Amino acid sequence: MMAPVTAQRTLPERFPRLAHEGGRGQVRELERLRARAHSFAEQFIRPRALEIDQRTGEDPGWFDWDLVRAGAEHGMLRFLIPAPAGGGGGLATHAAIVMEELCAACPGIALIYGAHALGISPLLFAGPAQWDGVLSELIASEHSERPLLMACAITEPEAGTDVEDPALLARGRVTSHARRVPGGFRLSGTKRFISNGSVARWITMLMPTDPRRPAQTWTCFLVDTRSEGFTVARVEHKMGQRACPAAELSLDEVFVPEERVVGREGDGTAATMIVLACSRPPVGAIATGIARGAYERLLAWLHDDRAAAGLLGRQHVQLTLAYMEEEIHLARQAYLDAAMELDQRALGSVMSNPAVRALGHVPASIRGRAPVRRLLSSSRARDATVALLHRSTDEQALTRALALSSMAKARGGDVAMRVTGTALELAGLRAGPVRAELEKLWRDAKLTQIYEGTNQLNRLEVYRGLCEREPIGCLPPLRHERRSRP
Ligand SMILES: Cc1cc2nc3c(=O)[nH]c(=O)nc-3n(C[C@H](O)[C@H](O)[C@H](O)COP(=O)(O)OP(=O)(O)OC[C@H]3O[C@@H](n4cnc5c(N)ncnc54)[C@H](O)[C@@H]3O)c2cc1C
Repeated sequence: MMAPVTAQRTLPERFPRLAHEGGRGQVRELERLRARAHSFAEQFIRPRALEIDQRTGEDPGWFDWDLVRAGAEHGMLRFLIPAPAGGGGGLATHAAIVMEELCAACPGIALIYGAHALGISPLLFAGPAQWDGVLSELIASEHSERPLLMACAITEPEAGTDVEDPALLARGRVTSHARRVPGGFRLSGTKRFISNGSVARWITMLMPTDPRRPAQTWTCFLVDTRSEGFTVARVEHKMGQRACPAAELSLDEVFVPEERVVGREGDGTAATMIVLACSRPPVGAIATGIARGAYERLLAWLHDDRAAAGLLGRQHVQLTLAYMEEEIHLARQAYLDAAMELDQRALGSVMSNPAVRALGHVPASIRGRAPVRRLLSSSRARDATVALLHRSTDEQALTRALALSSMAKARGGDVAMRVTGTALELAGLRAGPVRAELEKLWRDAKLTQIYEGTNQLNRLEVYRGLCEREPIGCLPPLRHERRSRP
């Protein structure tokens, strides 16, 4: 089969803004990352996509650890981990570029790495105390038989959209609850549709410490899935992106020690909004990758298969291909634009702050000593992390970045559905084996309109952030503001 033409384009060709705004060093670094993700996808993901989709369709609990080992070996589990903890130090732009490449091959397999990155993301802005423990453990496990995976659990059986927006959370039917006990919290409740939930060792989980005031007490916890009281209640039968399991998790008085509260108690809504702002451009990229995957397969079929002979000469086919190019190109501009806005203007300076960098130069062996760890996870250090966030960014920049992220996510999801559907219609029954791949991508595409907030919710964020310019509430309050909070 002919190499897909779109895969040969450089990053600046795909996204001209990068060439103008990114320094040469950044373009080179991102291009290297893209090339690594592309070759990993071609070697390990594409050849297994259909087989794994079929196996997990028959048995949703089946999971392929070979893919996790291969991903770990090729850096797919560490690109978001901060450099001081031994990772790639990437942010939204890095994650998005990796995701488009992987998803052009198979979004289900790619979601294993994507959900892992989502699980890591609440730890990034919660301060260096979080970097050494679990994140270093993730890196250390990469060469083991079972590299450790993460997941992020927000959704509940009665609260999906509502827990993804601070304004809706106050009215949401949240049933989970974290009860304060000596030395930490006891967590109880159910989390639903959690990607990687049945295979993750660590889960960043959000729930209230006072169920009567969920918005004010929403808090992020780092849950060890080996804890007593934690069970995987079931794994869902999925329509698409099947390679990555979505699980229902049950917690019955699961103990989480104080130092595994991510950030500060009650800062969970801000943490959720920052996580979603960072994860929506990569979801736009997942969707763009799916659309590109369908387009490339269709193009290769039109060029190479005798059953398609003559079709390329027809004007309606040319118009359809041009329409697909257009849709994919614009979806890519949207997700990279949002990712760069986040990394360069809204959040990037947190990571490049001299204090954070200086801490990175302190050897992990010293940072890991008990008194240093105690200091880094003290309430003073947590307040200082919030103060740093306030100094590095502001509500307006974050609201704009969140709105652009939502736009990229919603547009990407719609493009993925349209392009995969159009490819399937054009290829029709003549397409032979490639039809199965297109049909799978069409099933895979649907999820991009649902997770990370449905497209409806995301468009409401666009309305609030861009049309109304209403602050969404992404920044946790400073210490003195907390004292006066109701
Ligand atoms: C396969 C899969 C994987 C997932 N992975 C994860 C994960 O890893 N972690 C996690 O926490 N969650 C995950 N989710 C959950 C996902 O984010 C939610 O499904 C999503 O937020 C929607 O919530 P819901 O399913 O409860 O739908 P609902 O909130 O019940 O929404 C139903 C419909 O009503 C609309 N609607 C609801 N409220 C409003 C409103 N105020 N205004 C306008 N329209 C509204 C929605 O747009 C939607 O069309 C996953 C979901 C799936 C299906």
